[in-house]
Amino acid sequence: MKAASLFQGRLELVELAAPCPKAGQLLLDVKRCGICGSDLHTRLHGDELADTLELCGYPRYMRSGQRVVMGHEIYGEVVEHGPWTSGRLKPGTPVVSIPLLRRGRQVDGIGLSADAPGGYAEQVVVQESLTLPVPNGLGPDLAVLTEPMAVAWHAVPSAAAR
Ligand SMILES: [Zn+2]
Repeated sequence: MKAASLFQGRLELVELAAPCPKAGQLLLDVKRCGICGSDLHTRLHGDELADTLELCGYPRYMRSGQRVVMGHEIYGEVVEHGPWTSGRLKPGTPVVSIPLLRRGRQVDGIGLSADAPGGYAEQVVVQESLTLPVPNGLGPDLAVLTEPMAVAWHAVPSAAAR
């Protein structure tokens, strides 16, 4: 599959093997993927953020010397279910997902870790339990804004309460 991979601050078009969903995961065809401030800051200053997160106990935030497929604001359609999934989202279902990927006790931010490739690609793996169907025929250009809207929905009231 084609993907945009970040390496040393530069995005390049690469050909990668299609990802394979593991236990509890879904494979999506990516239809839209947003780019946000986290992506733009990480492109140039990811090593500083990775250093800080490592001090906080998270050692797998992406670094400039790694080739990483970014993209965590994803709208896609279900293609395939990994083992130990419920099957509640049928193939072809339009979905959005909280961009966290779990493998055993390891949890990584999709598109912000070399261990969890993101949505700047033709396909992406997401966690079934964190994936929601897009309701009422909402179009892809609006549905892809779900993740940034959820961040604002959480952050604005928290800031107002201070
Ligand atoms: Zn974001």
